[in-house]
Amino acid sequence: MRIEEDLKLDFKDVLIRPKRSTLTSRSEVDISREFVFLHSKQTYHGIPIIAANMDTVGTFEMAQALAKHRLSVALHKHYAEGDLVRFFGAYAAVVPVFYSMGITGADYEKFRRVRAQTGDAIQHVCVDVANGYTKAFIDAIHRLRNAEPSLTIMAGNVVTGEMTEELILDGVDIVKVGIGPGSVCTTRKMSGVGYPQLSAIIECADAAHGLGGLICADGGCASPGDLAKAFGGGADFIMLGGMLAGHAECCGELIEQEGVQKVRFYGMSSRQAMDKYAGGVAPYRASEGKEVLLDFRGPVENTLQDILGGVRSACTYVGARKLKELSKRTTFVRVSQQLNEVFGPG
Ligand code: 5GP
Repeated sequence: MRIEEDLKLDFKDVLIRPKRSTLTSRSEVDISREFVFLHSKQTYHGIPIIAANMDTVGTFEMAQALAKHRLSVALHKHYAEGDLVRFFGAYAAVVPVFYSMGITGADYEKFRRVRAQTGDAIQHVCVDVANGYTKAFIDAIHRLRNAEPSLTIMAGNVVTGEMTEELILDGVDIVKVGIGPGSVCTTRKMSGVGYPQLSAIIECADAAHGLGGLICADGGCASPGDLAKAFGGGADFIMLGGMLAGHAECCGELIEQEGVQKVRFYGMSSRQAMDKYAGGVAPYRASEGKEVLLDFRGPVENTLQDILGGVRSACTYVGARKLKELSKRTTFVRVSQQLNEVFGPG
């Protein structure tokens, strides 16, 4: 047993210190980014926020709504093959839409069949496992990279610099970072495993950037300010689940409760998700996600304006004309209180 004494931080532990700025309006801030991916060599230009590959967030409808603002989606992996073929066949993507898969043989075969029927419409994939530290995961990345040299691969999840480096050397373009911070994740409670998300971002971004790779901060953003902190800490992309849940584009079932419309939102490792897609929770494992009932929030458009406005505002406060400059201009101050909640949270 060993104890690491270094301080590790979460979003709640810091605020961003304001800096002198010549910007006069948020409208002067450009929050898009351009990248050339390390391995695929594809170019990217868009607002680097990605809807999570959860079945009530990473939907076709969400992809269409977000693309209007040049945000991306990682589609959930439970779509039927025919639906994926139709979607990719008809979709003229202005920004990446990530095809998601796990690492089983069946996942890979399904990907190959969909790809074979959609020409080169799928350019970006998200290889997603709860634990990115296994040999089986690394082997799957090798196989995929060898078979598909020009595919942009986002893969994870990990939370440490050395594993980020390993994945980038193995052929991953964007390493997905986060174990346990998600809004409907119970991994930390069930297993005691995790890593404070802001420190994970800072450490993994540093490791990735040293090799020319990128990271996607996945999980734990609960407000636009958290996105600003994630970008400030070095995240190239941010993946959002809970903040985009509960909208019309999530296509969840609406439930009326005391006159209020609600929608279900659950983790992809929750009992609810396993009942739906895996015939229940296997006897050797525990559910690592939960279900919550959210107020229906209408079209995602309204929420987007808040999110993008918040990130623009952060850039203005530190004098970053472009999102790219935000992390260079970020100084975090450690705090013991974030908000004045005298009139309640929110
Ligand atoms: P959020 O933005 O809601 O805080 O986090 C979204 C992320 O939570 C997803 O992209 C995924 O990485 C993670 N996640 C989704 N469902 C589950 C789950 O059931 N268990 C765990 N451990 N993580 C989950």
